Amino acid sequence: MEELARALANSKNAIAFTGAGISADSGVPTFRGPGGLWERYKPEELATPEAFSRNPVLVWRWYRWRQELIYSAGPNPAHYALAELERLGVIKAVVTQNVDGLHQKAGSRRVVELHGNIWHLRCVDCGNEIVVEKPVAEIPPRCPRCGGLMRPGVVWFGEPLHRASWEEAVALASSADFVLVVGTSGAVYPAALLPTIAKRGGALVAVVDPGKTAFDDIADFKIRGRAAEVLPELARKVKDVLRSDI
Ligand code: NAD
Ligand code: ZN
Repeated sequence: MEELARALANSKNAIAFTGAGISADSGVPTFRGPGGLWERYKPEELATPEAFSRNPVLVWRWYRWRQELIYSAGPNPAHYALAELERLGVIKAVVTQNVDGLHQKAGSRRVVELHGNIWHLRCVDCGNEIVVEKPVAEIPPRCPRCGGLMRPGVVWFGEPLHRASWEEAVALASSADFVLVVGTSGAVYPAALLPTIAKRGGALVAVVDPGKTAFDDIADFKIRGRAAEVLPELARKVKDVLRSDI
């Protein structure tokens, strides 16, 4: 941990790369964790364009359930620690696979959302996009402009990422000298390529996760622990290093 804090504090171009695990401590379940009501469905059976055209009401029920969880949960100390590290000038951006918007809520300013945002809705007929702040009331929601079916503004399995976000993420990873990987198993592509892209460019890679991840082999630092416990401590130690270096 000491060494990790020192390396991060001394980096010039660090980024964070986050996944569902960072929001697990807010009470938002990962796709592979327990999901109560929804355990009998696989995310691959709900988060796809096919599932949505087959049964938009079912898919929307699941998204509304997730919106409600996220709405009542809010950011946890791990999200706040990353925002703090950005304010300190240590982390330049957060690249996230999460769709919950909790990084922005915690105060992170440069957030690249690779898989979209659950609070964005898009009309499947006319492309109209709206942003909601609360869980949708009516299911399925209808387009205020044309009355068409609205879908969640997230990237589903089998869909390409938004080009601009992906290109921004690749540019950030290519020029990074440090990648702090938090709470992602590394099973979802192409997002999972980013730490390797950074590593090839000479970056140090640190992984914070209580479990095994696909990034453990390329990690220069591995902290096995929960994000909400590890990241605030890391931020404190980084501050100590910065202070002692003045
Ligand atoms: P994943 O479910 O594949 O992996 C989650 C990782 O988080 C695992 O490695 C697990 O060990 C780790 N983890 C669990 N609890 C943790 C904790 N307290 N602190 C730190 N790490 C913890 O998630 P993924 O890699 O993000 O891929 C799943 C896909 O599902 C992504 O595309 C993501 O967009 C989507 N998703 C998003 C949310 C969200 O927005 N909150 C939630 C679930 C799934
Ligand atoms: Zn419309």
